[in-house]
Amino acid sequence: MIAAVDINVTKVEHSKLNDLSLENIPFGKYFSDHMLEADYENGEWKNVEIKPYQPLVIEPSLMALHYGQSIFEGIKAYKDADGNAVVFRPYDNFKRFNISAERMCMPAVPEEVFIEGMKQLIELDKNWIPNKKDHSLYIRPLMFATDNMIGVKPSDSYKFLIMLSPTGPYYSEPMKIYVEEKYTRAAPGGVGYAKNAGNYAGSMIAAREAKKLGYDQVLWTDAFEHKWLQEVGMMNVVFIINNVAVTPSLEEGTILNGVTRDSIITLLKEKGIKVEERRINVDELIDAYKKGLFTEAFGTGTAATVALIKELRYKDEIMKLDLTKATTAIALKNRLDDIRYGKADDKFDWLFKI
Ligand SMILES: *Cc1c(COP(=O)(O)O)cnc(C)c1O
Repeated sequence: MIAAVDINVTKVEHSKLNDLSLENIPFGKYFSDHMLEADYENGEWKNVEIKPYQPLVIEPSLMALHYGQSIFEGIKAYKDADGNAVVFRPYDNFKRFNISAERMCMPAVPEEVFIEGMKQLIELDKNWIPNKKDHSLYIRPLMFATDNMIGVKPSDSYKFLIMLSPTGPYYSEPMKIYVEEKYTRAAPGGVGYAKNAGNYAGSMIAAREAKKLGYDQVLWTDAFEHKWLQEVGMMNVVFIINNVAVTPSLEEGTILNGVTRDSIITLLKEKGIKVEERRINVDELIDAYKKGLFTEAFGTGTAATVALIKELRYKDEIMKLDLTKATTAIALKNRLDDIRYGKADDKFDWLFKI
C-alpha cells in the first residue's frame, strides 16, 4: 500500500497547450503546464507540491552544481487504444532511481512521493500525452543536492522534481558507431550503473570526437584493454551473432540496468531467440563479421526504444551491417510498441494505468 501523502496542487490559469501543436515536436524541448516538487530537510521529505512549471531560485553555492550529487530517470507515458494514459514500467525506474541515490550518498525517495506524485502530475497534464505513432510524454524525475556551502561532503538537503516533456520520435536514422579506445565511460567500482549527471558530462567529449570522424556515437569499451564492449552512447547494446542475442552482462557495475534492455531480453525469449548476457569482446565481433555470422546490432533505451546500427568501426576494421536483414530489431520494436500503445495484450504486466 502507498501511504497517504498530502500533495498541494496549484493549477495554471491558462494551459500552454493552447499555443502548441503536439505533432513532431523535438525531444525534450517543451514542458507541460505543471511540475512536481518536494524537499528533503532534517531527514524527511516535505513540501510535496504540484505547481505551474517554473524556474527555480538557487544560490551560487548550491552543492549539486559543484560536486555533482544529481541523479535522474527517464520514463514514458502513452495513450492506449482507448485514449487512457499508461506509463511503461515506472516501478523499475523508481527502484533504479533509489539505487542511483544510494551510490551518490543521497536519500531514497519514497514511493508515495515518486509514484503517487508522478501519477497525480500525469493525471493533471494528461492532455499533454501526444496521440500519434512514436510520440509519447517523456517523464523526467530529478534529484539534486541543495545545501548552500562549499566543501566536499554529502549534502543534508535535496530537491526532488518531476517534469513532463511531450516528445516526437528520438532517433530516426540508423547509426554509424565508433568503437571507443581512448575515453572510458565506466570502470568496476565506479558509477556506471547509476543515472547520475556526471556520467553524461564525462561522455560528451568522446561523442564529439566521433562526430568529427563522421560517426554518430561511440561504443564504449572497458577501462583496461578497451576491448570489452559496454554500451552504445547512452543506450544498452545488443548484437545478433549466429541467431543468438548477445548483450553485455551487468555484474561489473559498469552498465546501466536498462528497463528497455530488460524488456527486449524478455521479448527475445518470447520469440524463441536465445539470449546470452555475458562479456563480449570486439575481436569476437570482428571474427563473427568475417564469417558472416554477425548480422544485427542495436541500442536500447527509453528515449529511442530500439536504434539500429548500420556500421561499426574498430581501428581500421569497418563492419557494415545489412539493414534489410535487421528483422529481429524491427520485430522487437514493433512488438514493444504494440504493447505500449495498447494494441497487444500486456501479458508481462508492464503498463501502469493512470
Ligand atoms: C538511461 C540509460 C540507458 C537506458 O535505460 P532505459 O531504462 O532503457 O531507458 C542505458 N544506458 C545509459 C547510460 C543510460 O543512462
